[in-house]
Amino acid sequence: MTKYPHLFSPLDLGFTRLKNRVIMGSMHTGLEDIPNGYARQAAYFAERARGGVGMIITGGIGPNREAGGGAKLSTLEEAAQHRTVTETVHAADPDVKICLQILHAGSLARSADAVAPSAIRARIAPNVPNELDAAGIEKQLADFANCAAMAKLAGYDGVEIIGSAGYLLSTFLVERTNQRTDQWGGNFENRMRFPVEVVRRVREAVGTDFIVVFRISAMDMLQGGLAWDEVVTLGKAVVEAGASIVSTHFCWHEAQVPTIATMVPRAAFAQVTGRLRKELTVPLITSNRINMPDVAEAVLARGDADLISMARPMLADPDLVLKAQQGREDEINTCIGCNQACLDHTFTGRLTSCLVNPRACRETELNFPAVTAAKSVAVVGAGPAGLAYATVAAERGHKVTLFEAGPEIGGQFNLARRIPGKEEFNETLRYFRKRIEVLGIDLKLNTKVDADQLKAGGFDEVIIATGIEPRTPELEGIHHPKAVSYIDVIMGRKPVGKRVAIMGAGGIGFDVAELITHAGVSASMDIDVFAKEWGIDFVNHPRGGVTGVEPVVAKSDREVTLMQRKSDAVGKSLGKTTGWTHRLTLQRRGVKMLNGVEYLKIDDAGLHARVGDQPVLFEVDTVIICAGQLPKRDLYDQLQAAGVNATLVGGAYEAAELDAKQAINQATELAAAI
Ligand code: FAD
Ligand code: NAP
Ligand code: SF4
Repeated sequence: MTKYPHLFSPLDLGFTRLKNRVIMGSMHTGLEDIPNGYARQAAYFAERARGGVGMIITGGIGPNREAGGGAKLSTLEEAAQHRTVTETVHAADPDVKICLQILHAGSLARSADAVAPSAIRARIAPNVPNELDAAGIEKQLADFANCAAMAKLAGYDGVEIIGSAGYLLSTFLVERTNQRTDQWGGNFENRMRFPVEVVRRVREAVGTDFIVVFRISAMDMLQGGLAWDEVVTLGKAVVEAGASIVSTHFCWHEAQVPTIATMVPRAAFAQVTGRLRKELTVPLITSNRINMPDVAEAVLARGDADLISMARPMLADPDLVLKAQQGREDEINTCIGCNQACLDHTFTGRLTSCLVNPRACRETELNFPAVTAAKSVAVVGAGPAGLAYATVAAERGHKVTLFEAGPEIGGQFNLARRIPGKEEFNETLRYFRKRIEVLGIDLKLNTKVDADQLKAGGFDEVIIATGIEPRTPELEGIHHPKAVSYIDVIMGRKPVGKRVAIMGAGGIGFDVAELITHAGVSASMDIDVFAKEWGIDFVNHPRGGVTGVEPVVAKSDREVTLMQRKSDAVGKSLGKTTGWTHRLTLQRRGVKMLNGVEYLKIDDAGLHARVGDQPVLFEVDTVIICAGQLPKRDLYDQLQAAGVNATLVGGAYEAAELDAKQAINQATELAAAI
């Protein structure tokens, strides 16, 4: 008897059947745009098909050139190339369906050819789009229909039409981007005419035995977005026009509300899908921060959706569904919502992968072949680098001993998981703990090894993953009682006063500022708190879903200044897709951010500095040092002196610019090669 009866019940669509309720949601990975990308996509999707997902939706593909300038599907030749993908997926599991997402970026296309209902530049777009005339509109409609027909020829089981996110279809829907006065603009009936007509033309082109998913913007998350009655009207109209499934989407790309970052509570938006489900007659897909099978099951059991879309969780673990089915959910490598290797890469033109699974999108090139001659391997340090190395080496058949000085595995992840909004990091530690057990790794906690012990152990390979040491800036008064390290603050070992200066505004400076200004329940753990913090009204569903008034955030009574020496904007080095959420949160909590600060000394009066030409005394009770890190190599140096070969990984190898993505990736690549 499965623990997930809803998740594993098939769904009958009349002309076809989905074997379970899990959809792999669409993600642009960049594989769409590279030479040999079709073969790599085929391997990437087939691995997820074997992993048990019911239906896959590809990354967005344009119906024509002006749709985005990237990958498109409009010719027979392109359809033939897509066959590599569909045939490989169907060969992996004939019961798995695969749909092509048709994405027309509209005004968000990074091209001078961009088109839109009106010539209005999106806040995040480089160009003013070209306003479509009547002939232009007809061409776009015909191109959508042609693209769907080509998808059918290419062997896809269906298409998903994206009608949300600020892309072409959604810009027709709202007055802020559609100021037309013809039949395609004006009242809502006119504004929704284009998306509805797209669905009608697509259905006409593909016949009745083909899945057509319409991705609707159920909450735009910005002022001037769709009102609830418009969402319902549109939903009914696309169903009438031929959509077989409606998939709810939340947020335009230019909105200033986080909808998928780790600070968003799990399944926060499913309730909106639940309301729409009551109004429509076709199955509904919900999505966003549904990363574990129990969360998905609960959403389905509540009746909030018929299908669950998991996109990033499928990057993190291609076998997620299979593991749930086999009762091995504690072996799931959970998506932690960090965006660091997926969306941050997508939006900076790099190939997508995954922080916790560097094999994602590299299925044809990063593999872990079983070894013929097992080596005995000592890995020192059970932070992300040591954990990744140890588990990959053991998976390949090596005999691994993992030494950790501390009482638990995780290294700095044990600090990260204590930051409000980073609770998901616990899942990565749970995953590694289980992996150590399954693979029979000899884990030695509370064991600070030295060179003699390692030499006496007679290991074939010694891997040094001892991580980092916090940098102590050379500054008068740096050992004054007011000066404390971020580790002591996060671990609660030193008190923090009311007036605080944070020296260093990198990722850790920001996390520390979050921790010490936070009050009450973590918004990531409570949907109501999250909604209040970001001005979302789930109950009354105002236009766009947002209240439009500056949110009142809970905060501690501390006065905090976050500072750095560089003249760059504070927070510039943070993740492309999440940095703004951290900056905005801290600004709303009254944290002052200062760049161009020259530190002079710390004494009883506080922190003395120079800002510009001016000497400034920050009269603070505590100065928290978050000034970067240095590699911890004492053990490595001892080994070198003792003539023992050792390999450095993670922070021990390179501490500057190091994050867990690099640590795990580097360790995985090295362990795949020994
Ligand atoms: P570490 O994590 O430092 O692990 C080293 C381990 O070696 C430790 O457990 C230590 O006890 C052990 N060790 C050392 N010497 C010995 C010895 N002689 N014998 C046995 N064991 C020994 N990165 C991100 O990518 N995203 C984030 O959101 C993020 N948030 C963070 C938040 C905070 C508050 C902090 C502090 C860090 C964060 N990081 C984040 C950074 C990330 O955690 C590090 O880059 C990563 O942990 C480095 O991994 P590592 O294995 O090289 O080193
Ligand atoms: P970091 O991002 O490199 O920031 C270090 C900070 O210290 C900078 O503000 C730097 O700015 C300052 N600094 C450097 N040398 C200094 C000196 N001698 N005296 C005073 N200040 C100095 O490193 P981190 O904050 O320690 O984070 C470590 C790693 O973890 C980073 O790679 C980071 O990406 C990762 N991390 C990521 C996240 C995330 O959310 N993605 C969160 C936490 C940590 P100035 O030189 O201008 O002063
Ligand atoms: Fe999830 Fe982070 Fe991996 Fe992206 S990089 S899939 S957010 S764990």
